[in-house]
Amino acid sequence: MEINFCSSCGAGMENRDVDGTIRRACTKCTFVHWGNYSIGVGALVMKDERVLLVRRAQEPGKGYWTNPGGYIEQLEPIEETVRREVLEECGVEARVRSVVALRDQPRGVHNVYVAFSMDYMSGEPTPDNVEVDAAGFYRLEEMREMNVAPFTKWLVDVALNGVAEGLAVDREPIVPLHGYGLFRV
Ligand SMILES: [Zn+2]
Repeated sequence: MEINFCSSCGAGMENRDVDGTIRRACTKCTFVHWGNYSIGVGALVMKDERVLLVRRAQEPGKGYWTNPGGYIEQLEPIEETVRREVLEECGVEARVRSVVALRDQPRGVHNVYVAFSMDYMSGEPTPDNVEVDAAGFYRLEEMREMNVAPFTKWLVDVALNGVAEGLAVDREPIVPLHGYGLFRV
């Protein structure tokens, strides 16, 4: 889809060479349309040897069991998004431990999905009955009998069988860096 009007000042857009690439750029201000991107987050909440799954009540993926997740908001720290999504979808409080996987999907809206390993804190899995209609902690053997989404199967394997420690959240960086979510290997 061609961008005809500047989303910053409303003036017309034109094709312009920006550092060697033709991009849509504003004829009046400095705005450049860099592209369309979205960032998804997924939670792998572990409790003993079990993983928190929810059953999707809406399309896409209605009827499939997946890990909780969603999309980041403009001004919401990513760590907060994933914590909020877990709480909203199934009433479980969990805390980010590390980033365990990343999925890149270049398409019309280029999507990057970040999967977090999370520690269970509290709460009994209870579906919100809007986005999801069932929730619980399940062992790998139990999942084999369930309609688990293929990507979730992959993520669960990473979470349970991955050998790397992943990118761990740094809650006390050695220098104050406000406004950043920081993860260390
Ligand atoms: Zn403009």
